[in-house]
Amino acid sequence: MKVELLGAKIDALNMQETENMVAGMVSRGGGGQVITLNPEYLYRAQSEPGLLDVANSAGVVTPDGEGIVWACKTSGHPVPERVTGIDLMLRLVRRASAEGWKVFLLGASPGVADAAAKKLSERFSGLQVVGTHHGYFKDDEDKEVLDRIIAAGPDLLFVALGAPRQELWIHRYLQQLNCVAMGVGGSFDVISGHVQRAPLWTQRLKIEWFYRLVKEPTRWRRMMVLPKFAWLVTKKYRLKT
Ligand code: UDP
Repeated sequence: MKVELLGAKIDALNMQETENMVAGMVSRGGGGQVITLNPEYLYRAQSEPGLLDVANSAGVVTPDGEGIVWACKTSGHPVPERVTGIDLMLRLVRRASAEGWKVFLLGASPGVADAAAKKLSERFSGLQVVGTHHGYFKDDEDKEVLDRIIAAGPDLLFVALGAPRQELWIHRYLQQLNCVAMGVGGSFDVISGHVQRAPLWTQRLKIEWFYRLVKEPTRWRRMMVLPKFAWLVTKKYRLKT
């Protein structure tokens, strides 16, 4: 079931159900896009309707972040739980190793996708990583990157270019990619060990965002969106203006 939040349709599924749904897409073939929707993306989409169109044409849209979970509850259409990019990616990679699906990692600084692929292969035996490519290429190099991915023929493509570039990139080339593709933000940095994931206690207390802000103070500009997003949700669903 999908619930609507500020114009975006979000899948009201828990983590296990989401994993199963994406696995179904992979098994059926024909490809598809998976978006883990966060408040920054949805706030920006209010003034850039193209971003809403991209989200609403994706096969799966998950509530990524406590902000989205809270907003869905406030709107009267709650979702079961937060489904973050990195957690869903790790589950899908585990599934890929069991099912024999081929995986490609695109994005992050040079060397990071390779390091992440190595870590994943150590963790999930039998995993087939059919290619990696860094994420610092120019628009006129898209074709070259695309050709490499197509030649490798993955079943699952993880794209770490940051939002919303990764979502737009996948949307633009989905037909040619002919696989299931998902944007994963900074996940390769964490999986490779270049960046530490916020400790579990910060996730449990729902203050992971605060931990990331302390660790990477340059994120404050992005986080300025969070109170604006909260106000927008309050205005629309609580005050009904
Ligand atoms: N990135 C990239 N190419 C770019 C800009 C960013 O590959 O032109 C990568 C960056 O190295 C990082 C990821 O995109 O690995 C974005 O991480 P961020 O922490 O911003 O994403 P979040 O998890 O917050 O969505």
